[in-house]
Amino acid sequence: MKQINIKYCTKCGSLLTQMEEEGKVRKYCENCQTTYYDNPLPSVAVVVSDGNDRIVLVKRKSEPGKGKWSLPGGFINNGESAIQAALRELEEETGLKGIVNNFIKIFNHESDLYGHVIIITYEAGIIGGELRAGDDAERAEYFNIADMPPLAFPFQQEAVEQVFGCS
Ligand SMILES: [Zn+2]
Repeated sequence: MKQINIKYCTKCGSLLTQMEEEGKVRKYCENCQTTYYDNPLPSVAVVVSDGNDRIVLVKRKSEPGKGKWSLPGGFINNGESAIQAALRELEEETGLKGIVNNFIKIFNHESDLYGHVIIITYEAGIIGGELRAGDDAERAEYFNIADMPPLAFPFQQEAVEQVFGCS
């Protein structure tokens, strides 16, 4: 499993030391008396359907999964709920305004780039906007569910299958 490898305190810049807590070695700032916990990163992904068995996918512009088709999604910002993050990422990447209809599932993913990532997945419908690729998407397109290309990550495939009942 990938661990965070920071050397200095993000608050005060002091060199971090190590300390053991509950049997785990943690990074510790003696100046701030703050322990650094190596937590997973929370993110979201959205299965967006147009109601006619079509799904919205984006072609990823950057790693991980660069050049592959993917569900719209990304990391949750501070101060944002998971649903807010899902709708923001959808609009940023596809130009579409959505509404979350259902929660699908929470997935765990080991990313080479980010370590342990938690992905909260939602099913969403479209309430406005026009499809165009934006932000970190190279392209954004509708696909008939039967013609859907392979997705960048296996958990996304599973999320789509839960919504459309296909495999
Ligand atoms: Zn500090």
